[in-house]
Amino acid sequence: MNEPVSISPRPVLDTLPAYAAGKPPAAVEGLVAYKLASNENPYGPVPAVRETIAEFDAISRYPDPLATLLRERLAEHLDVPAADIVTGAGSLGALTQIINTFAGARPDGTQDEVIFPWRSFEAYPIVVRTSGAKDVQVPLTEDFRHDLQAMAAAINDRTRVILLCTPNNPTGPILSTEEVEGFLAQVPPHVLVVIDEAYLEFIRDEGAVDGIEMYRRHQNVVVLRTFSKAHGLANLRVGYSVSHPHITQYLCVIATPFAVSSLAERSAVASLDHLDQVMERVDQVVSERERVVQGLQDAGWDVPDTQANFVWLPLGERTPEFVAAAERQALSVRGFGTEGVRVSIGEVEANTRFLELVRAFGA
Ligand code: PMP
Repeated sequence: MNEPVSISPRPVLDTLPAYAAGKPPAAVEGLVAYKLASNENPYGPVPAVRETIAEFDAISRYPDPLATLLRERLAEHLDVPAADIVTGAGSLGALTQIINTFAGARPDGTQDEVIFPWRSFEAYPIVVRTSGAKDVQVPLTEDFRHDLQAMAAAINDRTRVILLCTPNNPTGPILSTEEVEGFLAQVPPHVLVVIDEAYLEFIRDEGAVDGIEMYRRHQNVVVLRTFSKAHGLANLRVGYSVSHPHITQYLCVIATPFAVSSLAERSAVASLDHLDQVMERVDQVVSERERVVQGLQDAGWDVPDTQANFVWLPLGERTPEFVAAAERQALSVRGFGTEGVRVSIGEVEANTRFLELVRAFGA
């Protein structure tokens, strides 16, 4: 054996926050355990997806690198050209492609900048820093919304990409059409604006922005969507972006070959083919969300307006205490430092237990 050698990673690795994925719930005697930590679909995929998986017979074959079937089906569904759609291993895969294509370190030692709200999806700083670009985190407003004014003020000549997250993970509020239009008017046309709509299907606020409408009106908008949440395909890793050809042409070059398996592609198509059943499940989640929010308000909790499949409890210093109390009730929830706790809307029994817990815990 050779002597062990020390192989150094890129220095940026030392600055990366760890991606803390939601943990499965700990077992507690006498209680069914529920995971409310990853915004997953408690009802799973529609039956047609399970049938597609059971019938799948191409495991030894490589997938279509362009996921043509899915892109064509999505094109029909969204009424956009298939050429404007790029798939990825989840929308996180699609986002990574976008960042790596348009932002990074420059040959002169300076860094491109990527602006995003904070707190928001915890992968944003990881993906941005890994690319070599600088992350510019703009704090949310006091009511846990994007501070679009501050985000616009953060734009400079190094800004390459801006991320908007609507509804915002982990706090829940949406961006309205007027807000996004007003913001886009302040963004130079060479700066890309990514609208991350991972939780789109759960929105019931009619004033909410529709990313596809923004993409139709603005050449620099990229829409990010996923099959992980409403469609319940989180483990299959299918997401996509929609953008104009002057953007899409580069995304295709940098895309990880074969990122979406045929199994995932066909499952996504099957789910789209049964969108009515998908939306029935989404409606159940939304009605449970309304029950949970009402329950929280009745118990004296002041929570931000959520349009996603989770609620945000701004617990501050009491965050770890709440996470531990939830664990004792066999519920796994997601705590963020000493900021707050995000709790996914889950099975009816899980939501009821969560409401009992918050009543006992006290607002
Ligand atoms: N965007 C947001 C806002 C998310 O919350 C998530 C998942 N937590 C993603 C993107 C990535 O999801 P996926 O890669 O499963 O599509």
